[in-house]
Amino acid sequence: MTVETTTEKQVRCPACGETGKRVSALTLRALLKEQYASEISDAEDSCCGGNGETGCNAVTDETGYRFCDSQACDVVYFAEEGGAIFKKEQLKVVVGVKETTGDRPLCYCFGHSVATIKEELRTKGRCDALQDIRERMNTPGCRCETENPSGSCCLGSVSKGIKIAQEEL
Ligand SMILES: [Zn+2]
Repeated sequence: MTVETTTEKQVRCPACGETGKRVSALTLRALLKEQYASEISDAEDSCCGGNGETGCNAVTDETGYRFCDSQACDVVYFAEEGGAIFKKEQLKVVVGVKETTGDRPLCYCFGHSVATIKEELRTKGRCDALQDIRERMNTPGCRCETENPSGSCCLGSVSKGIKIAQEEL
C-alpha cells in the first residue's frame, strides 16, 4: 500500500456482483417498509432546522445507495458504504423486474405490468404501453423517484417486459 486507505465504495451488488444503479435515499424511504425506511437517513427530515447551532449535515450528490436490477437476485438496494442491504421482502411493492411470474409491475406511475401488457397483446394484438407512458410522463405524470423501486424511468423495463410478455403468450 503506497496510498492511505480510502473507503472503497461498493458499486457492485454484494449478492450477484452486478453493478448497481445509483438510487436516491428518497426512493428507499418511499418504498421500503416502515421499519426499514427509518434506517435511511434523510437530510431534509433530520435537518436541525437551519438555526446553525449544531450545524446541518449537508446533502451530498452521492446518494450512497444503489439498486440491483438482476432478476435472479433478491437484493434490491445496497449501501455503497457500511454493508447494508435491503431485499425484495423489505419493500412495500413487488419489484417487477425481479419476478418471473405474476403481475410484475413495471411502470409504477401508470400501472403497466407484464400482466397488463399481455392483456393488451391478447385483446388488441399490440401493446401501446410505451406510447402511453411517453404521452403521460410529461403532463406532469411521472413520480418514478418515489413510486418505482429503481427510482428512475421505467421505459427500459417496459420494453423488456413487452418482449417477455410476447414470449410467454
Ligand atoms: Zn444483485
